[in-house]
Amino acid sequence: MNEYDSALVRSILAPHGFQSCASAQDAEVILVNTCAVRENAYRKIYGLLDKLRPLKKQKKSFVVGVLGCMAQNLKEELLAHPVVSLVVGPDNYRSLPGLIEQSITSGDCGIDADLSEYETYSDIAPARVEGVNAWVAIMRGCDNFCTFCVVPYTRGRERSRSVADILDEVRAAAAAGFPQVTLLGQNVNSYSDRDGSFADLIVRVADVPAIRRVRFTSPHPKDFPDDLLEAIAAHPNICKHVHLPLQAGNDRILGLMGRNYTRREFVGLAERIRDRIPGVSLTTDIIVGFPTETEGEFLETFKVMENLAFDSAFIFKYSERKGTIASRKFADDVPPDSKTDRIVRLFDLQKRISSDKNRARIGSLEAVLIEGPAEKKPDHQVGKSDGGTTVIFPATPEAPGSFARVRIREASSTTLYGEAM
Ligand code: SAM
Ligand code: SF4
Repeated sequence: MNEYDSALVRSILAPHGFQSCASAQDAEVILVNTCAVRENAYRKIYGLLDKLRPLKKQKKSFVVGVLGCMAQNLKEELLAHPVVSLVVGPDNYRSLPGLIEQSITSGDCGIDADLSEYETYSDIAPARVEGVNAWVAIMRGCDNFCTFCVVPYTRGRERSRSVADILDEVRAAAAAGFPQVTLLGQNVNSYSDRDGSFADLIVRVADVPAIRRVRFTSPHPKDFPDDLLEAIAAHPNICKHVHLPLQAGNDRILGLMGRNYTRREFVGLAERIRDRIPGVSLTTDIIVGFPTETEGEFLETFKVMENLAFDSAFIFKYSERKGTIASRKFADDVPPDSKTDRIVRLFDLQKRISSDKNRARIGSLEAVLIEGPAEKKPDHQVGKSDGGTTVIFPATPEAPGSFARVRIREASSTTLYGEAM
């Protein structure tokens, strides 16, 4: 979402004469787009701001702005940092040109971080960087208030863009040469427009000529409709990949998290998805060490992950976020060592499962959307399978954005290796 928002910001700034430059040293203005979901995201940003201190001293005119969720959440606290001149929240990017200008001309500092119920930036065409994937935000904000999560406070109320505006943006991305779009929302299943539901929207996106692949993230497990499963199953260019965040496998913890589903309902949904979409790649998010989580309750999460055997998983330690329901109601009482121990056990389990699953694909033929040269092997190309796994193979004459049919010869827990046929 931040990559998408950065593309909107580039587009908002371009008509005012701002251009991207290659290094911080050359820049007159540095804008840092931030995340607030976990504490380590904060630490990274403060580390980066500290690194900018010498430049601030050297340069006469130097404006540093912090954008995004951390800006929305911390406001004055961020402005107190000696290098920061501007703090601008996710719904206020339109005011950036004026604020920057003012800061350059009169050295003013400023905060604009008022959440809006309406802002969707739908009239702004994002200035995307090159690549094969175009992120397309179909909605902004979130109304779910999962108790651990800061997003409803930093991105505000949920609002959907119109089907017509989204289709215009997808057509523009296709015309600009992007073969893949990824539709983004905090809970895509609650997308709603008078012209249709998320299932209606994704089908219309898949029908846009020259769009070879459609991905989406994330659906919430509490309301996964059958027509979406049918849409994925029926459309060859909608990738067979569903990212379904479980968070925890114990019902008491799921209740405290405010997730609105039980373990049994989640497992039933995962089985329904696998039944309706044969070969689907199912991935998830997990939080370990939510307040009061016992070892026994953690083991239930372990068991669900073992039984469901996700293709891959993002696993996080619970990170208390200021202002969230959990931070007000519960003490962050699982000791750091226990959080570490639990996350390591889940990493090990998932690594074993992902390795087994990837090894089972040795010998198969995968359709790979080529992204470019492989980073560590310049004579190889890298791309993604339909399910989203990274595939590396000796370079073909095909350019990024084309498809290669790759016979898989080797596999690790994260990557498939093969040769193009
Ligand atoms: N809207 C998505 C959903 O509900 O599936 C999730 C978006 S959130 C930005 C991405 C992931 O970050 C969540 O699924 C959750 O696992 C993790 N996360 C959110 N808040 C967290 C917290 N306070 N501590 C640790 N992980 C957190
Ligand atoms: Fe956060 Fe829950 Fe909304 Fe996802 S659905 S963004 S976890 S509040």
